[in-house]
Amino acid sequence: MAKRYQLVVIGTGTAAMVAAMRVRAAGWSVAVIDFRPYGGTCALRGCDPKKILVGGATAVDHAWRMRGKGVGGDTHLDWPDLMAFKRAFTDPVPEKHEQRYAEQGIDTYHGRARFTGRQTLEVAGEPLEAEHILIASGAEPMKLGIAGEEYLITHEEFLESTTLPRRIVLVGGGFIAFEFAHTARRAGAEVTVLEQASRVLRPFDPDLVGWLVEKSRVLGINVRTDTAVETVEKEGGGFTVHASANGSQETFPADLVVHGAGRAPALDALELDAAGVAHEKGRLKLNEFLQSVTNPAVYAAGDAAQVGPPLTPVSSHDGKVVAANLLNGNHQKPDYAGVPSVVFTIPPLAAVGLSEAEARQRGITLRMQSKKASDWFTARQAAEPTYGFKVLIDEETDRVLGAHLLGPNADEVINIFALAIRHDLTAEQLKTAMFAYPTGASDIGYML
Ligand SMILES: Cc1cc2nc3c(=O)[nH]c(=O)nc-3n(C[C@H](O)[C@H](O)[C@H](O)COP(=O)(O)OP(=O)(O)OC[C@H]3O[C@@H](n4cnc5c(N)ncnc54)[C@H](O)[C@@H]3O)c2cc1C
Repeated sequence: MAKRYQLVVIGTGTAAMVAAMRVRAAGWSVAVIDFRPYGGTCALRGCDPKKILVGGATAVDHAWRMRGKGVGGDTHLDWPDLMAFKRAFTDPVPEKHEQRYAEQGIDTYHGRARFTGRQTLEVAGEPLEAEHILIASGAEPMKLGIAGEEYLITHEEFLESTTLPRRIVLVGGGFIAFEFAHTARRAGAEVTVLEQASRVLRPFDPDLVGWLVEKSRVLGINVRTDTAVETVEKEGGGFTVHASANGSQETFPADLVVHGAGRAPALDALELDAAGVAHEKGRLKLNEFLQSVTNPAVYAAGDAAQVGPPLTPVSSHDGKVVAANLLNGNHQKPDYAGVPSVVFTIPPLAAVGLSEAEARQRGITLRMQSKKASDWFTARQAAEPTYGFKVLIDEETDRVLGAHLLGPNADEVINIFALAIRHDLTAEQLKTAMFAYPTGASDIGYML
């Protein structure tokens, strides 16, 4: 006989954990399912392990930049050591997460979940019945549809690599590609980024991206746009990446080829049609309460829902929204105003709110401040000339609409702009705040 729950959650990442814990705390019977070790992308294969690697690369880079300015010695990145440090964070995660679920009385299942009916599932041959089902299955690297795709490794394998080969080609010019490129370059690899579009890091401000690409090239990273990868061939111990670039064919030799070309909701294995859950072009059809438009028993959250940007704080927010709607009926809609996003390059690139193009399209009368600020104290004391910003203010209301930052501390300072946007603060209110000096935040007054 099938075991019956009030809520079954597919996934054990951020969205799953937040929703499952809240619903269980209200006394519901809850089960979670994952076919991978418990913990989800952020903790095991995304943000956290990535940040450990970037942290090491940042330390080394800072030491190199300070050479001849009081810092000496031969500093280098020791990849195996760094990986061991990373594993100190990731290895304990699955057990800790399973323990947390068990402590709360949440049942745990291992295996791939698939729907067998509108409110029934199967996992590892075991049937389950549920009053409600939350799809929190995250995202997977997109299928590229190129010959030799099987030779590409994903972010998951890159973040597990115990050695780093000499020549690395990253397919795609998004945030994962740039973060890996900057880290691998500091570890001594020869890195090429191949992007088929005319711009890399498309969601980010084109001026600041331009400055970051300039910096990447100075570091020796080969950033190529308008270069579409067509085939990857295995040759000897390595690979040859064939691409078309502005009508001509080019080849790029590599020891490692990494998929950095985007991720899409992980829905394929779920057999959504068996549950009557509508989907189109790889995306779930959801109402404003994150509920399936065709099966009210089913909700979705996080990267699987992809209503908001595919980021951890969004997955957490969605998990809270779904839990509230399950417990008290549909009444909460997700609010993605002021979600900051960061590309953890060295230095980092960060953005929140409207882009300049979006603000102009909306016909808003803008006050815009933008500057490459290599001569500011923040840049000079860190020996990092790549420092700049673009801040957008609504001329009529004085509200902060968008902020785009590149340089030391951009990943932290962006949060202050996020706070301002989410809580409708004016530029004047930000200016009158007193920030500790000298910090990245103490530059904000000069950016407004
Ligand atoms: C390399 C990388 C770096 C990133 N860096 C950042 C960052 O710096 N900051 C940030 O905010 N975000 C970052 N992200 C994005 C962030 O990791 C995701 O937005 C977030 O983890 C999504 O959480 P989730 O709960 O929606 O899904 P996930 O954490 O992906 O969890 C989904 C889980 O569902 C499981 N699953 C899938 N299908 C099934 C099935 N059929 N049956 C059972 N289980 C299933 C999966 O195995 C997975 O464990 C990064 C992502 C990557 C890949």
